[in-house]
Amino acid sequence: MSNKEQTIHDFDIALICEYFSSMERQGPGSTEATLKALSFIDNITEESKIVDLGCGTGAQTIVLAQNTVAGSITAIDLFPPFIDKLNNNIKKLSLQDRVKGVVGSMDNLDYKENEIDIIWSEGAIYNIGFEKGLNYWKKFLKKGGYVAVTEASWFTEERPKEIFDFWNNAYPEIDTIPNKIAQMQKAGYVVVASFILPEICWTDNFFTPAISAQKIFLEKYKGNKSVEEFINYEKLHASLYDKYKDYYGYVFYIGKKI
Ligand code: SAH
Repeated sequence: MSNKEQTIHDFDIALICEYFSSMERQGPGSTEATLKALSFIDNITEESKIVDLGCGTGAQTIVLAQNTVAGSITAIDLFPPFIDKLNNNIKKLSLQDRVKGVVGSMDNLDYKENEIDIIWSEGAIYNIGFEKGLNYWKKFLKKGGYVAVTEASWFTEERPKEIFDFWNNAYPEIDTIPNKIAQMQKAGYVVVASFILPEICWTDNFFTPAISAQKIFLEKYKGNKSVEEFINYEKLHASLYDKYKDYYGYVFYIGKKI
């Protein structure tokens, strides 16, 4: 949900959920990027346990389910409306035997040590922080298990002040790709792959669908200052991306627990 928590902390969370529930994705991403990340992961079997943390309404959960032949997938998100929507889609697609959505928090996992084969998390680890998330999740992964996450990253060593200030306020843990890779290694993973998500993950798949969602939302909550402020923030996010996309983006990092 684009790292907005700190800036609109007083905004009604139920309204944010309503807005994002109306969208297919709650963050930048694509089917192709999910599949590319999945291609670096081997040995998925009947017994494999895959956990998708901060799944939102589950765009990537469904891609994972439809492109793995075996294993169970548990998708976890803090917000019940997202999980309800995902579970409806799972049922519609007859995937309920292998896939389920569950309400829960990524920093309070109900798993045993060395139990999970793959932890997936697209556009969500920032909620607890990249380093904290990687360190905390590692104990639940089996040795040789994988973590696959997308994380906001700088593409260059230097950047204009306007975009630095925006991100420093939204998510100060944003860092360069070599630094993120070093953090993943330090947390006890071999970095199997990293790749930058293509621009369409942000534009066609996130900011463009947001335009009509914002219009509907503004009409419904006409005169509500918090809603206007929230939408203005989302618009700023989109315009800054357009202006500074050479300097930052989402990077997929795939690590294997040592
Ligand atoms: N993976 C989805 C959603 C990304 S948005 C996608 O790429 O479309 C980030 C998600 O993290 C939101 O759905 C938000 O509800 C969820 N989230 C925030 N804090 C969380 C926490 N502590 N535990 C689990 N999910 C959380």
